[in-house]
Amino acid sequence: MENQALKRAVAPFSPDRFPHAVALLGPAGSGRLAAARLLAAGLFCAEADGPCMGCVPCKKALAFSHPDLFFFDNSDGKMTVDQIRALRREAFIRPGESDRRVFILRGADKLTVPCQNALLKLLEEPPPGVVFLLIGENANGLLPTVRSRVVSFELQPLSEGAALSFLRTARPGKSDAAYAEAAALSGGIAGRALEMLERADSPTRALAVRCLTALAEQSELSFFTAVHEGETLSSGSLTLFFDDLRALAAEGMLLLAGGRPTLPEGERDIARLLAKRFTLAELSRLSSAFIMLRERADAHGGVAALLGTLAAECAVVAYC
Ligand SMILES: [Zn+2]
Repeated sequence: MENQALKRAVAPFSPDRFPHAVALLGPAGSGRLAAARLLAAGLFCAEADGPCMGCVPCKKALAFSHPDLFFFDNSDGKMTVDQIRALRREAFIRPGESDRRVFILRGADKLTVPCQNALLKLLEEPPPGVVFLLIGENANGLLPTVRSRVVSFELQPLSEGAALSFLRTARPGKSDAAYAEAAALSGGIAGRALEMLERADSPTRALAVRCLTALAEQSELSFFTAVHEGETLSSGSLTLFFDDLRALAAEGMLLLAGGRPTLPEGERDIARLLAKRFTLAELSRLSSAFIMLRERADAHGGVAALLGTLAAECAVVAYC
């Protein structure tokens, strides 16, 4: 799959000589978590030169269900020193099913300085058999003392050709044009390429396009009909819907600012329409509203109330 270079780089480390701390660095969507899972599978694998991907330990590691595999998420940068101490206590417990324990820590570069110092103690004197896989965007967020204790790997974006073959394998059955477009716009970020491919024909995306088209064309009836349709969305889809609205508004702002389009051709019409109809300040206001609504949807706000707020916020910008 992607990041053959990483595979080659870690190949010389047998599970016994694997570094006790590895940093997987790269932009979001570049396959850092996938790489961490593969490394964990390789460490737990029952075969000599794993990961074989087929044995029980491999399957458990890949599914994040291995009892000696731990996942800590600091993507939001809110992890506390107490949580690092909890991780530390966990690291000193003996493994259950294997002879090692693997800790994946996402957002390692967003840890506060006190958190990194608490982690440093563990990296300096790691309990036997414990491996840390730190995931982050770049090494700048890590303290030099932490950096010096880890073996770092930069995950490189895919070439357009590699992104194309990755998409064809990961999501078969789409049109050539859809693959080519997603690969070209992804910037080589595997996660983004997948998202582009999937978003293009998602129902929430289509609804978001209808909603914003009606708004830009000042067709009040179509606008309220589209918003009303949102009531059929589950709360999970509602989050996607607000995300879609925000992405389309952001594309409109990008066009107004003279930037290069980032969305597929089929969605540029709505971006152009938004750029023609609204000012940067208006689109920015809409965008802020979509972000606020997405957060509320995430916190399980009621669907009707959220759509009511959506209609009110949009009306202020478009009809006042
Ligand atoms: Zn295996």
